[in-house]
Amino acid sequence: MRIGVLTSGGDAPGMNAAIRAVVRQADALGHEVWGIHRGYQGMLEGDMDPLPSRSCANILQRGGTMLHTARCAAFRDPLRRTEAASKLKEAGIEALVIIGGDGSFRAAETFQREHGVACAGIPGTIDNDLPGTERTLGFDTALNTAVEAIDRIRDTASSHGRLFLVEVMGRSSGMLAVHTAIACGAEAVLYPESPEDSYEALVSGLNASWMRGKRSSIVVVAEGDTVGRAMAVGERLKRDHALDLRVVVLGHVQRGGSPSALDRIWGSRWGADAVLRLDRGESGFYLGEVAGALVAQPLSQILESQPVPPGDLGRLVAILAR
Ligand code: ADP
Repeated sequence: MRIGVLTSGGDAPGMNAAIRAVVRQADALGHEVWGIHRGYQGMLEGDMDPLPSRSCANILQRGGTMLHTARCAAFRDPLRRTEAASKLKEAGIEALVIIGGDGSFRAAETFQREHGVACAGIPGTIDNDLPGTERTLGFDTALNTAVEAIDRIRDTASSHGRLFLVEVMGRSSGMLAVHTAIACGAEAVLYPESPEDSYEALVSGLNASWMRGKRSSIVVVAEGDTVGRAMAVGERLKRDHALDLRVVVLGHVQRGGSPSALDRIWGSRWGADAVLRLDRGESGFYLGEVAGALVAQPLSQILESQPVPPGDLGRLVAILAR
């Protein structure tokens, strides 16, 4: 069997570990792997070539993706997907491993339904916002990167007695923000799924901590928070309360860097398992982790609602800031 592998959507540390495992597990079973460059865009353009086992040397510890990634609006067009299917056929590719987030999996589900190409998904996104899995590749690394950065900010916040608003990634998910806030001992967290009126709760929380004698605070803000991004929240706080505050946007720093051991291990396990399942004739699934175990579910499950950070984690941030 000739298997195509691609990375799609936002890049995430650990994607290279998954590519390497796909290639080497396939090699062990006597299958061949082709790398498709720049996600679905490369598939449309026929930008693909063989990935022998040695081509994956020295990538396990690297962030980013050796295959590059892209967002490809054209793949939403059924006619263009038909063109992509013929490019695969020309190259003799019968099965695909797609490493990406929910958008990439929706595309895979549609593509398999329309063109019968066997698809396997590996969750790769720092947002950890996919249904059916408690982990996605890159989340653990991004979390550790954000925490390390905020530890440094904490030093200067405390020296100057300042409030810092730190924006972390997460356009529609507060998973990264809430976990970062707990791990760096933030005084508050703003995130899109927060059950409370975040701004009012933030102001009263900051007042209460001032009364308790705290002179510096860190507030973690998810980029998709409903009150606004960190810059907007900062402007509002300055206007309403004349606070001495600073805003830091961590931005793409969180997407890069050497993957953590956990992201390497899960990338490796998922990459190998995807190939083992394709070899057994399974298709139309994506992999995940639930309670420490490797699980697979139908690609169609991606249409279910995304997981939200448990409410008690948001409340824990406030309790631990006392
Ligand atoms: P992620 O996979 O990280 O969620 P995107 O949502 O940008 O990233 O999706 C990645 C790519 O998958 C898109 O650029 C597009 O090519 C393809 N895609 C996403 N959603 C669909 C869809 N509903 N139908 C067809 N292709 C899609």
